[in-house]
Amino acid sequence: MERKHSKKRDAVLKAIRSTHSHPGAQWIYDTLKPSIPSLSLGTVYRNINVFLEEGAVVSIGKVGGEERFDGQVSPHPHLICCRCGRVVDLPGSPDGDRLRETEAGGLPEGFVIDHRKTVYYGLCGKCAAGS
Ligand SMILES: [Zn+2]
Ligand SMILES: [Zn+2]
Repeated sequence: MERKHSKKRDAVLKAIRSTHSHPGAQWIYDTLKPSIPSLSLGTVYRNINVFLEEGAVVSIGKVGGEERFDGQVSPHPHLICCRCGRVVDLPGSPDGDRLRETEAGGLPEGFVIDHRKTVYYGLCGKCAAGS
């Protein structure tokens, strides 16, 4: 029983890390279900919550009503397509945990920044082309 449980955990984490598509729980479930018939959507959610607490995955927030996750945990900006819900990493610009001095200059007194998340919204190439 214990071994089964951790096998599912490993599979869920592997699935999240295997893709750059920033999947939601439903995608993970659909992907793993054929090879793990006893998997339930509840188990997927439970494991994701554990990974979030451990910092093994990060949440990108809700896109089109579904929470999406990222196995690449070093901070980086995201591009989100408002039409199809595609989430893409913005390459070559690490999302530093320190603000530039110019940005920090406007901070209310006493406020200490811990981290930030940068998200750009727009249309992906496919949607912008109207296909
Ligand atoms: Zn799109
Ligand atoms: Zn990402």
